[in-house]
Amino acid sequence: MAKLAKLDDIVSLCRRRGFIFQSSEIYGGLASCYDYGPLGAELKRNVRNAWWKHVVQMRDDVVGLDCSILMHPMVWKASGHADKFADLVTVCKKCNTRTRVDHLQDSREGTAEEHTEHVDIETEAARPHDLAGKVCPACGTVGQFTPPMAFKLMFETQMGANVDDTMTLYLRPETAQGIFANFRNVLDSTRVKVPFGIAQIGKSFRNEVTTKAFIFRTREFEQAELEFFCKPGTDEQWYEHWKQQRFDWYLNLGIKKENLRFRDHDPDELAHYAKACVDVEYKFPFGSGDWQELEGIANRTDYDLRQHQRGIRTMNDWYESKGDLTKISLKAESEDYLKGPLAYFDEEARERYVPYVIEPSAGVDRSTLAFLVDAYDEEEVKGEQRNLLRFSPALAPVKAAVFPLVKKDGMPDIAMNIYNDLKKQFTTFYDEKGAVGRRYRRQDEAGTPYCITVDGQTKKDNTVTVRERDSMEQARVNIDQVKTFLREKLDL
Ligand code: ATP
Repeated sequence: MAKLAKLDDIVSLCRRRGFIFQSSEIYGGLASCYDYGPLGAELKRNVRNAWWKHVVQMRDDVVGLDCSILMHPMVWKASGHADKFADLVTVCKKCNTRTRVDHLQDSREGTAEEHTEHVDIETEAARPHDLAGKVCPACGTVGQFTPPMAFKLMFETQMGANVDDTMTLYLRPETAQGIFANFRNVLDSTRVKVPFGIAQIGKSFRNEVTTKAFIFRTREFEQAELEFFCKPGTDEQWYEHWKQQRFDWYLNLGIKKENLRFRDHDPDELAHYAKACVDVEYKFPFGSGDWQELEGIANRTDYDLRQHQRGIRTMNDWYESKGDLTKISLKAESEDYLKGPLAYFDEEARERYVPYVIEPSAGVDRSTLAFLVDAYDEEEVKGEQRNLLRFSPALAPVKAAVFPLVKKDGMPDIAMNIYNDLKKQFTTFYDEKGAVGRRYRRQDEAGTPYCITVDGQTKKDNTVTVRERDSMEQARVNIDQVKTFLREKLDL
């Protein structure tokens, strides 16, 4: 019977087996930053690759992009992040803990987290907030909070070495804006036609007020984002299309159906420019109410491209302000905005429009955590506990392990040959140390789907034992057939 994973079990397995470590651990650790160890790096790379395969490789209408993390500051002025990307925070008067207002629980209703988009710094801080019934998550005191204040989420850095010509830049808080900034480049350098998408995977940075639950919410994380450009009027269809595509992606990679759901945003939680937004939620074994966002899918309308057209019009003011974003405001949109640089001309229909955008935005680390939690299992086998990760083959960090039963009778040589052959195709591991049962258990815990053992019979009939992780069933396979057998079983 499968056991529900606890976060502590996952954290300890991740550390013990080299999936994930605390960053800078030798110096006491850096809070909320994590490093992926040998197995974790493979797992995360497989998550990225599975996303890329599904969103880019398998489609005729999506192309990839890989932008720099540092971008021109006007990108963030135009996108709204420079003025609005903040969380509303309050401090508990009893214990001094700072918390996001939208993460406070209400003692009266016992409600779970509210969900809000990031706030407009000025208007939100001025708006009255009723915190009388809210509970401090650190000390449990009710209603003892300071007036909410805005807390900016973008990390700042300086570019250039000289005082006179240094410029304040931001580490990107999302990868999406790099896609909008390259929309015209992609149109002009490829043959794409609307409807089409541009996809990107990369690091993002947010100085989150509070971080939580291992790699669930960190200050440096990786996003996988698609901006899908379509003709206004077709956006609702594309929204439904991507909702389904993304939901199925998680299911096809082994997430249990009962642990996955959609949560539509209420109209009052929607960002002002968004026409619709839904979260794909996973039932994580922590937090209030368990269900937490894995991915957001939004209909962003034509907002971003039109904002960047305003940004381009504002560039003269930017030069005059000597790079001080606080001294400029975005120029109004041109009446001729349909002829602007980021508008689209549909040659067949002889029509101009600014495309609408459907954005599925996933977290690579957050989905890696979901895949780990969902795959984790403990069971009793012959009176002993067996821990295993039931990863889908596409995600398993190691696809096959090869063992000689004992270190004699020429078995290591045969096993080494098989290993050398398989590693050209799959991530393969060779192990000849200790009892074979323990070697199986180590691979179960790493999530390796197949183990191949060279034993006494191998020399007689050229077969090996192939053991399957989940069922522990064993089959004899001819050495010449091992590669084909694995390729079929792993579907790789
Ligand atoms: P939240 O409200 O939880 O702060 P958000 O709604 O602002 O998140 P988005 O901007 O929609 O998040 O980001 C898209 C995806 O990126 C999220 O669904 C999540 O998977 C991932 N993500 C966002 N912030 C973080 C973070 N701090 N750590 C890890 N992953 C993150």
